[in-house]
Amino acid sequence: MSIDFTLTPELEDIRLRVRSFVDEVIKPGEAEIGATENIEREDYLRILLGMRAKAQEAGIWLPHMPEEWGGMGLGHVELAMVQAEAAKTRLGPWVFNCQAPDEGNMHTLLHWATEEQKENYLKPLCKGYKTSCFAMTEPEVAGSDPTLIQTKAYQDGDEWVINGHKWFISNAHRASFAILIARTEDDPDLPQAANSAFIVDIPSEGWTEVREVETMHGSTGHSEIRIEDLRVPASAMLGGRGQGHLLGQYRLGPARLAHCMRWIAQAEMALDMMVDRSLNRFSHGSLLAEKQGIQWMIADSTMELYQAKLMVLHAAYRIDNKLDFKSEVSMAKHFVANALGRIIDRSIQVHGALGYSTDTPLASMYQHARWARFADGADEVHQMRIAQRTIAAYKDTGSTRTATGDLPL
Ligand SMILES: Cc1cc2nc3c(=O)[nH]c(=O)nc-3n(C[C@H](O)[C@H](O)[C@H](O)COP(=O)(O)OP(=O)(O)OC[C@H]3O[C@@H](n4cnc5c(N)ncnc54)[C@H](O)[C@@H]3O)c2cc1C
Repeated sequence: MSIDFTLTPELEDIRLRVRSFVDEVIKPGEAEIGATENIEREDYLRILLGMRAKAQEAGIWLPHMPEEWGGMGLGHVELAMVQAEAAKTRLGPWVFNCQAPDEGNMHTLLHWATEEQKENYLKPLCKGYKTSCFAMTEPEVAGSDPTLIQTKAYQDGDEWVINGHKWFISNAHRASFAILIARTEDDPDLPQAANSAFIVDIPSEGWTEVREVETMHGSTGHSEIRIEDLRVPASAMLGGRGQGHLLGQYRLGPARLAHCMRWIAQAEMALDMMVDRSLNRFSHGSLLAEKQGIQWMIADSTMELYQAKLMVLHAAYRIDNKLDFKSEVSMAKHFVANALGRIIDRSIQVHGALGYSTDTPLASMYQHARWARFADGADEVHQMRIAQRTIAAYKDTGSTRTATGDLPL
């Protein structure tokens, strides 16, 4: 057994190149953009696309995709290093074309799409010419249970006709296509086999964006969509009939972990800021950093961030080594999402009123962190699945050992 966390010189080089690119190109680009409402759209696009062109020139593009698709061909452990550097800035993942939901959709298309679908959708997505969304959640039924999906598709000759209602569809406002999940089977053998996935061009007749839902972090592209007699050709089905659930699960494993990698970057920023502030703020005779109450917050955050990193690296290792990763990804997703909220909250506390203001990024980070606890699987659903696997492991083997990461301890 070897446990070795050192990077090869090539990987260390990639990590440092990403870090310098973030510092030298993306941070200044973001500063130039400032508040999006105060900048002309033309200037906004010029800066954004300029950063993407530079990223491609620098060879930091599609870290999650194989080289034959123009990517860097990194495994999930290696990807963790890149995502954790990229997400130190708001636009980093977008500049490197590894942002949600496109990144998860690329994985899905790579695995499930026909050659024709890859040519029409995956290729332009990889080049950055197209952008996408994933449309599953519905207002009328619990998104936590995809067997309840009500959006229906029926066959009419060579076409499928789709009717339904979706919401919180990230990026739908800008996307050139959607991967849409709809019910196609009335009486499936298993409840999980009722849904199929379709690729839908946007705009399409029958696909209407009702609004961008106003959320805690603003109205930033999570759209409500009405689907009325939307017609797609039979060739628009992604994967087979009844495989929509399977495809969603396949997509969500790596996509959830990629969220965790980006959340680690945010948590680290919050901890860095917490320590920096505590070293510069004086109260009741000493620096905040010298007070035990503050040290406990720093210590708790440090331990949680350490756990988060280990869990993400181990889950990524299991994906890379084709081992079952469902439980490890669930545990990582649950833990990192909650640790992120707690660490940002402590950092706000140490900053006092400044932390509550929008003079630092902490307030915005806190608002974004809140959705992490239920999007892509609510805390309680992950806990339910983790417990089921632990109980099953005990029943099968007389021990819970395999359910705790199956580690040699
Ligand atoms: C910012 C943001 C972006 C999103 N982007 C997308 C997107 O791009 N595409 C998309 O399809 N969806 C998207 N979603 C939706 C997201 O995936 C759903 O919110 C999530 O699946 C939960 O579904 P729900 O909101 O219907 O909550 P519900 O399923 O109604 O659950 C509500 C709560 O009930 C509890 N609960 C549910 N089931 C159980 C259980 N079995 N045991 C115990 N407690 C339970 C949990 O506390 C849960 O938070 C996004 C959401 C947000 C906030």
